[in-house]
Amino acid sequence: MWTSVELSPTTRPLFPGRCAGCGCDAPQKTFLVGCSPVVLIFNLRTPILEKAPACDACLLMLRKNAWFLFFGALLAGIGTLLVIAELLFQLNLPAQPLWVGVLILVGMGAGCLLPMLLLAHWFPPRPIEIWSLGGNRHYLFKDEGYAEEFRAINVQAANGD
Ligand SMILES: [Zn+2]
Repeated sequence: MWTSVELSPTTRPLFPGRCAGCGCDAPQKTFLVGCSPVVLIFNLRTPILEKAPACDACLLMLRKNAWFLFFGALLAGIGTLLVIAELLFQLNLPAQPLWVGVLILVGMGAGCLLPMLLLAHWFPPRPIEIWSLGGNRHYLFKDEGYAEEFRAINVQAANGD
């Protein structure tokens, strides 16, 4: 379950001084937080990237998660391509005009991308994601306590305290 904190697009987010992964104090590193690929497709003009604090162990884990996701998505894409190719082969279509061939290729490309995007969307490797479709930004946190701390810090900053 993810906890959402909404901020205006002009607000520069402030993250708690704890690791966003495990919550330990005084993290030494940062990691990039952004939108999932599905959200990014609808928001290509204004991609969002922020830096959140992380400890060495969590940074290593995040990188490992990202690689697992990359290879999982790649396998899903290749598997989908093979299934589509097999289905087309089974249909044993007669020769088609060029534009039909182009349409089939575009459809195969989209068919391969879809499971890859959904995998990246359903299993985000990071403990923080950003949703933004033009309006306010929604910062989504895996850790509810970290999200509440993030909310308190940013509300306090917005009020000028
Ligand atoms: Zn950590």
